[in-house]
Amino acid sequence: MAIRLYNTLTRRKEEFKPQEDMKVRMYGCGPTTYDFFHLGNARTFVLYDVLRRYLKYRGYEVTFVQNFTDVDDKIINRALEEGLSAKDLSERYIREYYQDAKDLGILEADVHPKVTDHIEGIIQYIEGLIAKGYAYESDGDVYFSVEQFAEYGKLSHRNIKDLLAGARVEVTEIKRSPADFVLWKKAKEGEPFWDSPWGRGRPGWHIECSVMSQKYLGETLDIHAGGTDLVFPHHENEIAQSEALTGKPFANLWVHGAFLNVDGEKMAKSEGNFFTVRQLLEKYSGEELRFFLISAQYRHPLNYNAENLKMAAASLKRLHDAKDNFAYWSKIALERELDGKEKELLAKLKSFEERFIQVMDDDLNTADAIAVLFEIVREGYAILNEQSAKSLLLETVEVLKRLSAILGILREDERIDGDFDSLLELVLDLRNDARNRRDWAMADKVRDKLLAMGIVLEDTNSGTKWKKTQRLD
Ligand code: AMP
Ligand code: ZN
Repeated sequence: MAIRLYNTLTRRKEEFKPQEDMKVRMYGCGPTTYDFFHLGNARTFVLYDVLRRYLKYRGYEVTFVQNFTDVDDKIINRALEEGLSAKDLSERYIREYYQDAKDLGILEADVHPKVTDHIEGIIQYIEGLIAKGYAYESDGDVYFSVEQFAEYGKLSHRNIKDLLAGARVEVTEIKRSPADFVLWKKAKEGEPFWDSPWGRGRPGWHIECSVMSQKYLGETLDIHAGGTDLVFPHHENEIAQSEALTGKPFANLWVHGAFLNVDGEKMAKSEGNFFTVRQLLEKYSGEELRFFLISAQYRHPLNYNAENLKMAAASLKRLHDAKDNFAYWSKIALERELDGKEKELLAKLKSFEERFIQVMDDDLNTADAIAVLFEIVREGYAILNEQSAKSLLLETVEVLKRLSAILGILREDERIDGDFDSLLELVLDLRNDARNRRDWAMADKVRDKLLAMGIVLEDTNSGTKWKKTQRLD
């Protein structure tokens, strides 16, 4: 079975095939850093994260790049209001992004490029477009000439003629055509600027994503993702710029996440109907917010209200409780052969994992994937208790944890277990050094102390093995 994802470009679900075997180059449009990000933005960032985690689970090596838009009108205006430099303001919100993203269980991208670190590359890119006849300078600005790019509109399925007919003809002699978009903006008084062949100025918005994605991922991306509001004009313009310059497809698969709505309207800063993740973290854990965000498949709208969020938090608690109960029972249960019913559950666990993969393969259906987790919980509770066979309890916990980790939930455990394992490895390594020095006293001391903590060591020909003793705490 292959992963199938909906491609905005072709308007159908397609079998996912990266260019290079088992290697994925993926880009997602990141935040404009002038404020804390809101739960709507979070829905899109969590989508990138789930897609990335799932691809990894399915064996792909994923390189993921997500930018920070750190030059923008909104940043400049907010900085003026707060009496800060644009740089200080955006650096602050980049730090805040990392903090909230971490709470939501969003893994850091392999690269998080900032526009201000890529001005030279952007200038060169624009020069390339001018040299090829796709862009023109006009009074210190540079524009992309949309009519030069015959395929303009292919992503948003718009026709350039309709676009032009629909566009208000601006009273300006600066642009040759109203559909043209800006690549480089002449600096206004008091704005941050960089020197360029066209005078002092700064990049327009769209160009940054073409330049930074291609710098780190190559000319053709396997996946480009964003929220649906970016399809037009942002992504349409990214395609025009990139394909005009390279003559190659810019991205093979375009993944767009549906909105988080409030009363049927998109949650947006401009609508004033937003809650920042930072605000919500006062009442909910990052994991609860994340669980709410993935409770709908990513192309379905999701409605924010306090009731829905509370329900999500309660569901997540049921999952935690089940996992904790099964884990607790596994500590006190006896090692024994499985009985008939238990054998059935063991077989079912396998089929649940298969079902989980099946629904996630089908355009990342997190809603159905969560339903599978609850099936495991239901079937588990039906037959499991502290009298059950230890191995079955352990396996149930293992499957729950493994599948939840793909969704990025039940993860504090994952972190603690990971830290514990690496710490223990370090201790064993040091003990091994002691043994090599024939410092038996030290080696024994470490072994005894670990035993007192409930960890038994066994020195074998292939190294030291460890396991936890059965303790009730
Ligand atoms: P921005 O900081 O506005 O550039 O947005 C960052 C990302 O959040 C983009 O990929 C947007 O498409 C996405 N986004 C913004 N609002 C929403 C929303 N209400 N629901 C889902 N995604 C959103
Ligand atoms: Zn972008």
